[in-house]
Amino acid sequence: MRIAMISEHASPLAALGEEDAGGQNTHVAELAAALVGEGHDVRVYTRRDSATLAEVVSSPDGYQVCHVPAGPAQRVPKDELLPYMGEFGSWLADSWRRGGWIPDVAHAHFWMSGLATVHAGRRTGVPTVLTYHALGTVKRRHQGARDTSPPGRIGYERALGRTVDRVIVQCEDEVAELVRMGVPRSRMALVPSGVNQAVFRPDGPVAPRDPARPRVLTVGRMVERKGFLDVVRALPAVPDAECVVVGGPPAELLPADAFARRLSALAESCGVADRVKLVGAVPREDMPTWYRSADVLVAAPWYEPFGLTPLEGMACGVPVIGTNVGGIADSVVDGLTGDLVPPRDPRALGTALRRLLADRVRRFAYATAALDRIRSRYSWKRCAEQLGAVYAALTTASRPASAVA
Ligand code: UDP
Repeated sequence: MRIAMISEHASPLAALGEEDAGGQNTHVAELAAALVGEGHDVRVYTRRDSATLAEVVSSPDGYQVCHVPAGPAQRVPKDELLPYMGEFGSWLADSWRRGGWIPDVAHAHFWMSGLATVHAGRRTGVPTVLTYHALGTVKRRHQGARDTSPPGRIGYERALGRTVDRVIVQCEDEVAELVRMGVPRSRMALVPSGVNQAVFRPDGPVAPRDPARPRVLTVGRMVERKGFLDVVRALPAVPDAECVVVGGPPAELLPADAFARRLSALAESCGVADRVKLVGAVPREDMPTWYRSADVLVAAPWYEPFGLTPLEGMACGVPVIGTNVGGIADSVVDGLTGDLVPPRDPRALGTALRRLLADRVRRFAYATAALDRIRSRYSWKRCAEQLGAVYAALTTASRPASAVA
């Protein structure tokens, strides 16, 4: 099957850990590779954000990345990309109409890609699928006035849910959120993300650590909603443990980063500065060594549309304490593969950490059960198979006119 994946701001080729680059880049890269592995012909369309990018780049994993000229050929913050989505969609439609290559299905990632994809789908008859990755309603609820999303986002997301042929949801929390927004349950298919188990595995090199000091690891971009401040606030309840924070800008830029400074100042005022270590951005290929170096991974976001880091930690055989939000509430089974605590509750987090760090048997049991769960439910192959079935149902239902001819 010919599959177009549209990911307007998140290129599978981009580096991770920067402000706008995160889980979606990885998701698109891994999913595209897994779909190729299932025998599909995959093209990923992303905005051309540098004049030096070639129009088409072949990835080593067997899919092509097409850089779509829409807006200036330079980095533009995600929240300022909306005005270019019409241009993006028209370019897609033109390129598909010109012949050569027309997809059987177009799968958009993030609502803005959804707009471009629906625009192109209407003009070409290509069936459309959307994964939101994050929802404006949830962001607004948690960030309030600090939410910099374009004002129409929630309305667009609601309309898209009723327009695309299928919505791919990643966790139960997202289903409930969309139903509240008025998107019919019958339009949704629940297909969780996968985790790369060839990369994230329990055996392999381990980042240096002090064997005498329990290590609590937390991973993510340096933004408030990732809950790093809560992890630092929980630390006084866990004497002896060190807290390692991976992510944010590269190490040399941490001193200039406003949030990193806030985190360090908080550690100082909580009296735990000597136990908090900010590592900065780590290349993706080194991430497993960091996970494996930890006794416990904490994923403490205030909200989390999906949350790859708990899955990666679980795949590396590390027990997870997560907040009971979004996709984490599905991936961590409380009391079986890890512990769930309420978000923004340093006291509950501190209690859970203290108990788990004191109990080696429980840590081992969680890690073992977590690995089982990853292997049976969160492989990219399984994800690609499930999506392949969704796509196949759509293409038999409505084959694009030009593809039949
Ligand atoms: N990551 C990384 N280097 C870092 C920090 C994070 O490669 O220094 C990766 C991490 O392994 C995960 C992704 O970035 O794959 C973050 O995904 P998640 O879903 O946790 O959060 P998002 O950034 O999408 O909100």
